[in-house]
Amino acid sequence: MRVTRREFSKLGAMGLAARMLPVVSAGAQSGERKVGYCVIGLGTIADHFMRGVQGSSNSKITGLVSGHRDKAERIAAQYGVPKSSIYSYEDMDKFRDNKMIDAVYVALPNSMHAEYTIRSAKAGKHVLCEKPMSTTVSEAEAMIAACRDAKVQLMIAYRLHYDPLHLKAVKLIKDGALGKVQTINGAFGFDASPTAWRLNKALAGGGSLFDVGIYVVNACRYLTGEEPVKFTAVTSTIDQDGRFSTMEENVSWTMKFPSGVLATGSSTYGAQMPGYFKVFASKGWMEMSSAYGYDGAKLRASFWGGEKGSPHMEIDEASTEKDPVQFTREADHFSGCVLNNKVPKSSGEEGLRDMKYIEEIYAAAGTVQG
Ligand code: NAD
Repeated sequence: MRVTRREFSKLGAMGLAARMLPVVSAGAQSGERKVGYCVIGLGTIADHFMRGVQGSSNSKITGLVSGHRDKAERIAAQYGVPKSSIYSYEDMDKFRDNKMIDAVYVALPNSMHAEYTIRSAKAGKHVLCEKPMSTTVSEAEAMIAACRDAKVQLMIAYRLHYDPLHLKAVKLIKDGALGKVQTINGAFGFDASPTAWRLNKALAGGGSLFDVGIYVVNACRYLTGEEPVKFTAVTSTIDQDGRFSTMEENVSWTMKFPSGVLATGSSTYGAQMPGYFKVFASKGWMEMSSAYGYDGAKLRASFWGGEKGSPHMEIDEASTEKDPVQFTREADHFSGCVLNNKVPKSSGEEGLRDMKYIEEIYAAAGTVQG
């Protein structure tokens, strides 16, 4: 329906004009519209995210979904969320009618990502979902389809895609500063507690590759800007202490990229393994360690300019940013996409690719997942 300015003013006097305007989050003032997030699952990473959102200019926490009402009420009071915007896993779908909630942040164990993403999309909410996107390729495809059908945005929470030091490493390679990349290696792991849901395949989907190895797979892809085409892998379990009855303890893999770059990675649930990547190229090398934490990353590089007589370059840079800044950037990016109807940089398709490569790695190791 088209309305002239004069007709609009007349409608305003009748109180109807407001109903014709696009829906804006509650609490938003003109020029400072904020996307309202409902956080689903109030564990460790949700805490980082909620603290990060406090620093965001275009995001705020407006709802919570939890199985523990007391805990949810405590957190609601902290973030100014009304009690009427606290839901249980069972009645969560009611948030369809809650105008304060524009989007959800899915921070549940891996096997629950698909169900809660799809339910949220069906309720008309945009979805920011933690990594790994899902536990199988088919779940990831269903999540993408549900968000497409509901016309909502879907982003996978790859916080490092928005981190300045990682972006600097990518740019050094892209600009050719290191010359031709030949090999990359990386690793990430930790000594998992026997009580962690991560050691239950039904909740985790598989071993440490889903949880932390995925950072290495993803980094090799954004560093090269290529998609791997060939995989080899092996798994092993050293500790026969009951923790690894449903999954392997260690996995190591190789990915070959179309240019010929060979990337090797390892992940474990049996040792503290500070995350890193190391790139070897025709003009020098570059490494980041610890590469995948919430802060404290260091980038070091050493390479030749390439031209005759050009200087030898050294980079030794430590990130000065502190947790939860990565989560602020992540929220800023997704909220910007929601507000401007743009596809996020780390879209559902990006998450799906990693799910495919995880399946390829397990298949190469002779281990069937899902
Ligand atoms: P967590 O155990 O600290 O929190 C999980 C939450 O899910 C808890 O609030 C728990 O009560 C709830 N939950 C609901 N049903 C559950 C069930 N059946 N079993 C166990 N918990 C259940 O886990 P986390 O470390 O916050 O991980 C959550 C997700 O976030 C995972 O997918 C993980 O891979 C991802 N994660 C991402 C990062 C990152 O840096 N992006 C870091 C850690 C974890």
